[in-house]
Amino acid sequence: MADDPHIEAFGLICHSCSSVLTCGEGSFYVVKIEAFADPSPPNLDSNKPSKHLSTEINELIEQMSDLSEQELMDQVYRRLILLMCRPCYELWIEDPTGTSAS
Ligand SMILES: [Zn+2]
Repeated sequence: MADDPHIEAFGLICHSCSSVLTCGEGSFYVVKIEAFADPSPPNLDSNKPSKHLSTEINELIEQMSDLSEQELMDQVYRRLILLMCRPCYELWIEDPTGTSAS
């Protein structure tokens, strides 16, 4: 698996606005996003004022049986590589989570 499959491709386009990007001009940005689910061990604390553990596990298994393998993977780990032209990047990097109202 190539590390950066998009970088070598011809006809690069901005993933945000679809404008054509030209290599070697420093006119675009490569944004790598890695997202993990909380890697800490599950909290099986017995102080938890909740239902029985076995009930919880059964519910989890039930929920997971509805998901495909890919969906399960996506819930744990995602890795994205985005190309963005400079204007799109400059907007995005100021508000990467899209939370500031405009
Ligand atoms: Zn753009």
